[in-house]
Amino acid sequence: MELLKETIQQEGRVLGEGVLKVDKFLTHQIDPVLMQKIGEEFKELFQNEGVTKIVTIESSGIAPAVFAGLSMGVPVIFARKAKSLTLNDELLTTTVYSFTKQVSSDISISNQFLEQGDKVLIIDDFLANGQAALGLADLCQQAGADVAGIGIVIEKSFQNGRDLLIQKGYRVESLARIASLHEGVIEFIEEE
Ligand code: 5GP
Repeated sequence: MELLKETIQQEGRVLGEGVLKVDKFLTHQIDPVLMQKIGEEFKELFQNEGVTKIVTIESSGIAPAVFAGLSMGVPVIFARKAKSLTLNDELLTTTVYSFTKQVSSDISISNQFLEQGDKVLIIDDFLANGQAALGLADLCQQAGADVAGIGIVIEKSFQNGRDLLIQKGYRVESLARIASLHEGVIEFIEEE
């Protein structure tokens, strides 16, 4: 997605250890015009998959997921990282290792929002080693729901997440694929 790649080049900042900071438009301040176009792009990619729900993880997956849900006309559920006092229904829970925080934590979804027969599009802001996406897929499996695909805003293709998810049989679509962040320079994988 050209507009996304241009925005990453203009506004993104490379931190050490292969981390890209995109807090000017995605992970802190949010650019709603760009998010709307991202939502439309996910709709284009997944509209023939019979998607009934979108599942993401708080907090930075929520903006692209909501715009995809708006475009596709389906509800959006975000997995929560902290157990809220009001989240006292039956919970589907799994453990995810966080790439950026380097700690494992539990994520949960109330079982009232996912059910057998749902076809779920998983959306996240970044794909690094694939642990967040795999955790979300595990929650879908626990609910008896099928994963229709995985939509990623920014894939860091120099990490192994994409290969892992494809090996497990998931369809992975990333709107921007980063080949390298070496020496602070953002290089994309060029695709036709
Ligand atoms: P994974 O689970 O694929 O290893 O990592 C994906 C998760 O880690 C995403 O949900 C995202 O929040 C975070 N993440 C991974 N790499 C980056 C990065 O370079 N920048 C930012 N801002 N978040 C990242």
